[in-house]
Amino acid sequence: MTERTLPHGREQAEGIGTPRKTKELLQKHGFSFKKSLGQNFLIDANILRNIAEAAELGPKKGALEIGPGIGALTEKLAERSGRVVAIEIDQRLLPMLEESLADYPNVSIVHGDVLKVDLRALFRERFAGLEGVSVVANLPYYITTPIVMRLLEERLPVESIVVMIQKEVADRFSAAPGSKDYGSLSVAVQYYAVPDIVAKVPRTVFIPQPNVDSSVVRLKMREKPPVQVYDEARFFEVVQAAFVQRRKTLLNNLQQRFFPTAGGKEECRAFLEGCGIAPERRGETLTLAEFAIIANALGARPLPSA
Ligand code: SAM
Repeated sequence: MTERTLPHGREQAEGIGTPRKTKELLQKHGFSFKKSLGQNFLIDANILRNIAEAAELGPKKGALEIGPGIGALTEKLAERSGRVVAIEIDQRLLPMLEESLADYPNVSIVHGDVLKVDLRALFRERFAGLEGVSVVANLPYYITTPIVMRLLEERLPVESIVVMIQKEVADRFSAAPGSKDYGSLSVAVQYYAVPDIVAKVPRTVFIPQPNVDSSVVRLKMREKPPVQVYDEARFFEVVQAAFVQRRKTLLNNLQQRFFPTAGGKEECRAFLEGCGIAPERRGETLTLAEFAIIANALGARPLPSA
């Protein structure tokens, strides 16, 4: 097989993320996996390459990796970008990363919990002068939703987020109204970004093998939201309320939150009809534009406190 020649980098003939190299490194350091940290390492060179390429990097771009493990994906990012910063929580991996990534001066490792690191400061200090940054990660399952939501909500200067996550969560990110996977997470993700599933990944390409299959999803950040919302907090409050009890109608869910007084049901019905939205519909059928209509109309009314 001939290795692809990259326009601005090089690719090692045998990278870190092969079964042989991975086992060798793990054995040498006597490493034992911590399930609580979601440690399932990728050992498939093609998938590692696909993830890195989905981020559309280049010599003037940076990559922020969350959880480098032993550096298999980090290496692919280093070959394709100007700078890689990787945040790893497990101190035992630091000497291993130092060894495996010794040939890559454009990589720096930060020891810490990504949920606690000041990402805005990190972007300012470590990625200055670059033309754009992508977040790329094979994410530990237990932090998928909090970290993705944090990256979206903080409006960090990120071009795209390319992450390997549990298949079911990827389906929820990209679900359309009316589908069983569509919920408040879909609305939130799609408000900030355009999701697309880049690859489906079987559990067999990790050691140890997880109990679930995964997907690689790319979230391309939008320059501005796809709908005009006057008060974002109110918009997300409406979305949360609409899905509080999935099987209930909008009328029931929204009445409870926004029209809790006696006679509130009829008031809520009239309000929804005034918005042009049938009160008997369920939240799972509403588009972002319809949620925005409700939130903007509610914005003009005095509301009960939560
Ligand atoms: N990137 C490697 C790969 O693809 O083979 C390892 C991926 S493994 C699924 C997840 C990695 O995230 C592990 O190295 C784990 O120690 C690290 N990790 C877990 N929780 C973390 C956190 N809160 N902050 C930073 N890293 C974390």
